[in-house]
Amino acid sequence: MQVPLLDLKLQYRELREEIRARIDAVADAQAFILGPEVEALEREVCEYTGAAHAVGVSSGTDAELAILMALGVGPGDAVVTTPYTFFATAGCVARLGARTVFVDIDPETFNISPALLRRCLEEKRAERVRAIIPVHLFGLSCRMDEIGEIAREHGVPTIEDAAQALGAEFPGMGRCGSMGDFGYYSFFPSKNLGAFGDGGMIVCREEAMAQNIRALRNHGMEQRYYHHMVGGNFRLDALQAAVLRVKLPHLDRWSAKRRVNAEIYRGEFARAGLMGTIALPNEPFAASGAANHHIYNQFVIRAPRRDELLAHLAKRQIGHAIYYPVPLHRQECFAGLGYKEGDFPESERAARETLALPIYPELTPEQLRYVVESIAEFYAG
Ligand SMILES: *Cc1c(COP(=O)(O)O)cnc(C)c1O
Repeated sequence: MQVPLLDLKLQYRELREEIRARIDAVADAQAFILGPEVEALEREVCEYTGAAHAVGVSSGTDAELAILMALGVGPGDAVVTTPYTFFATAGCVARLGARTVFVDIDPETFNISPALLRRCLEEKRAERVRAIIPVHLFGLSCRMDEIGEIAREHGVPTIEDAAQALGAEFPGMGRCGSMGDFGYYSFFPSKNLGAFGDGGMIVCREEAMAQNIRALRNHGMEQRYYHHMVGGNFRLDALQAAVLRVKLPHLDRWSAKRRVNAEIYRGEFARAGLMGTIALPNEPFAASGAANHHIYNQFVIRAPRRDELLAHLAKRQIGHAIYYPVPLHRQECFAGLGYKEGDFPESERAARETLALPIYPELTPEQLRYVVESIAEFYAG
């Protein structure tokens, strides 16, 4: 049996006719940049997330860059986030000449630890901290209640990196992206809502900021060819918006299916007697009754002898990935930040111990069982 980490062809098969018709409509109109499809998607993302304003952009990375630009982040400024995330989260900060200050994760959730964030901000009073970027990693919301409180106490805006968490909820507060001052999503094909290429979306609370960001995504111009600030080309294509508009109404159903698969994994790992060996992802908000308490962009486990297990899974034709093998404070390009091994022990341990298993909605129970059987076989051998 083969179990790929992700198979997008199955999702496409389901929506093929509808998507092709919408692509044809854009082709017939020959209007490709921004326009009505993008505006409609922006409205739909507002409705779906509860955010006040949405601005379609060219990627999740460009979304973050544009938000930091709108805040005027630059040399001499600091931005706080975790080292256990995708590169872009800290890369954008560096591109603007600002400094990333890292805070370690909570080992139970892989998300930024509110207690350590509080301590960091208290110690960094002298530094110009211009933003906090909580990352809702793997589709699980950060503790936005505590983070929001800390941010308010220090008068620092929050930018939610919801690239992996479109639709995920923090109980009683709302959907990821809509709880902070800003949020952003990625429509990279392998994210829960994937485009046919790159795409992203910014959401924010204030109308004036949304207007500012709209100008920034288009070279800083409002009136054509008049530039009162320097922006970039961060525009979303109409073709991508057309595809995403077909998919968005299905997102909650797909997320529910991912949770069903996670439950099947839990049952199978328990039956195989592996619960003392493997650590499965925690669901800290499951009891809250919030439907999208986790949306499983990734199903990430901790496993002893992780690298040997990976080799075994490869032999059994089971897809897998490590998110992420090198925490950002240990990346060569960030050596100048002056961090060293041991500075963020939980991020370092997660990088050593974790691996992601297939979790996409179209997986069959037989495939999930095969994954667990293969892991059981490894630890029995
Ligand atoms: C994917 C991702 C991004 C970047 O999004 P792109 O659309 O690929 O530029 C940023 N942060 C996190 C956590 C991501 O997973």
